Amino acid sequence: MLAVAGVAWLIYSLLHHRNRAQTDYLTGISNRGYVFEHGFRLGDRALKNNEPLSLALLDLDHFKKINDTLGHEAGDKALIAAVEAVKKVVKRGDIFGRLGGEEFVVVMRDCDREEAGKRGDEIRLAVAGAGFLHAGKHPVNFTVSVGVAVIDPSCDFQTLVNRADEALYVAKNSGRNKVVMASSTAERLSEGFSTVGSRQRVRQDDALSTYR
Ligand code: GH3
Ligand code: MG
Ligand code: MG
Repeated sequence: MLAVAGVAWLIYSLLHHRNRAQTDYLTGISNRGYVFEHGFRLGDRALKNNEPLSLALLDLDHFKKINDTLGHEAGDKALIAAVEAVKKVVKRGDIFGRLGGEEFVVVMRDCDREEAGKRGDEIRLAVAGAGFLHAGKHPVNFTVSVGVAVIDPSCDFQTLVNRADEALYVAKNSGRNKVVMASSTAERLSEGFSTVGSRQRVRQDDALSTYR
């Protein structure tokens, strides 16, 4: 009897510790480590099974202003409110994680380019509607910029993140509160883009305005 209780306790504590190690302390969603570990697995599986997989990278707009005007506690509440809003549009089997600060990722399984654009916009609208009253009197409203990338055979999970990051950078620099789709490998090859995708080399001639 004691041995059974001991084994049950051991299993419980192993699961508990594993869960804690994979979770973001503030918001309760997956942390960066888990996103990458699980993301690489999902990316490999999607390519092997020839299934679509998309990734949305999210960064709250002008978030520092909330901290600066209303304090860190209001900022923390805004992060939690944004997460709760995005959770409502995240599907079963997707990964939703916090990469750090006010930056998040949604890995969308079985999601092609068209669907990914729509879901990116659902995320954007959900966050725009997540405002609240801080301390019963201060309205806190915020928006999010989103970069979306879709996997293809010459693109692993890290490349997917890089491309979404590049698209996010474009969203930020073209007005914020918008969704920008990263170009695919085929588009990059035909237009002289780097096929890897990195903020440093968006286009070989750095012509951001023609990015799509
Ligand atoms: P942009 O639209 O260009 O993304 O501007 P931004 O203000 O959102 O970006 P910036 O990188 O300048 O500032 C991010 C801020 O997020 C700065 C940092 O203090 C704040 N931050 C990061 N993590 C936390 C957190 O856990 N809680 C709170 N309250 N603030 C955080
Ligand atoms: Mg940021
Ligand atoms: Mg930001």
